[in-house]
Amino acid sequence: PTRGYWQRYRSIPIVYRIGAAFVLGSLFGLLVGQPATRLQPLGDLFVRLLSMLIIPIVVFTLVMGARRLTPSNLGKIGGQVVVLYAITSAVAVAIGLAVANLINPGSGLQLGDAEAQTAEAPDIVEVFLGIVPENPIGAMASGDVLPTIFFAVVFGLALALVEQTTDREDIRNGVEAFYDLAEAGAEAMFKVVWGVMEYGVIGVFALMAAVFGEAGADALVPFALLIVTLALAVTLHIAVVHLGGIVALLVGQSPMGFLRGARDALITALSIRSSSGTLPVTMSNADENLQVEEEVYSFSLPLGATINMDGTALYQGVAAIFAANLVGVQLGLAEQFTVVAVAVLASVGAAGVPGTGLIMLTLVLTQLGLPLEVVGFVAGVDPILDRMRTMTNISGDLAVTTLVAKWNDAVDFTGGTWVPGGGTEG
Ligand code: ASP
Repeated sequence: PTRGYWQRYRSIPIVYRIGAAFVLGSLFGLLVGQPATRLQPLGDLFVRLLSMLIIPIVVFTLVMGARRLTPSNLGKIGGQVVVLYAITSAVAVAIGLAVANLINPGSGLQLGDAEAQTAEAPDIVEVFLGIVPENPIGAMASGDVLPTIFFAVVFGLALALVEQTTDREDIRNGVEAFYDLAEAGAEAMFKVVWGVMEYGVIGVFALMAAVFGEAGADALVPFALLIVTLALAVTLHIAVVHLGGIVALLVGQSPMGFLRGARDALITALSIRSSSGTLPVTMSNADENLQVEEEVYSFSLPLGATINMDGTALYQGVAAIFAANLVGVQLGLAEQFTVVAVAVLASVGAAGVPGTGLIMLTLVLTQLGLPLEVVGFVAGVDPILDRMRTMTNISGDLAVTTLVAKWNDAVDFTGGTWVPGGGTEG
């Protein structure tokens, strides 16, 4: 009988089990309060398990993706990805500004005496130089995704070149062996992803219990309007831009099918609030559910986790209006344009880890001449806001990935829609 229960439990798609853990963990945290924060290590374990997979998955899938890539192909795919990432982020900030202008969160609130945090603006030259690793193993060892992508792509393309130009049979076989090895490695890592997701049910319960045990519901009340504004704006952005515009209109597929295919990644992002940490799940959803070929997603998704942050950019728009309202000033059109520019540029250099959007806000506020104390003021609710941002970031990465895959004939729409397969079933 125990076996029967276990099997029944396992037959429920993982996204529902994690969803239930999310809700129950939150309630548990609210009921128990402070002591619930002791569950934090169980949540951290989940995040660590996912982090463990990032670099191996990125390297394996990029090397195997190179099997079907030529440099000109890669240039085309890369160009499309980057341009779409930039456009969607800019639209996201505009939506954030528009919704916040309508709802006006922050008017009537008093700025507490919170401490300011500051961040240095990322140096554009350094961001670009940082793409090239001084030492590829060093980049992998310290988990730097961009330089790892760079090296793995160069290596994969060089392998392909060697295979085409050599007249030695043994070297050709060696290259094929490399590709096979990478493919087997990637498959193995995706298996591990699903094992980690099984643990995620416990991990997410613990993470949510710790967040609400710490904050408590009362702490959220003054920020209710800010939370609602962000929730509305990200829902609008996902519905109109990602689902309506990209998936339905440009890709010509069902938004529901997309959501079903992307749901594990979306709920993981919501739970751990890190695009990088979610990357293994995002890649596995792209591969197994959305049927995208690795030559597109192996490149676009790790890149997106670092440089494409629709939700984070959108939040800058919402937070700028919030900050302006707090101190009772009006942001003119020129200032709102500044927000768009700063948010889009800053999100390129920022890492997809928890709280990035909060730090980025210091840049936006500085640029607008608004008090940096606002950052300290909203820091308490950021664990809530960050979840919505991160989920939107992931949705944007996957939507753009499917579009670029379609443009490059690198996605399989069997039966006219996406059929969730893979992971959840075993
Ligand atoms: N946590 C977000 C991410 O990882 C970044 C942010 O908005 O803070 O994508």
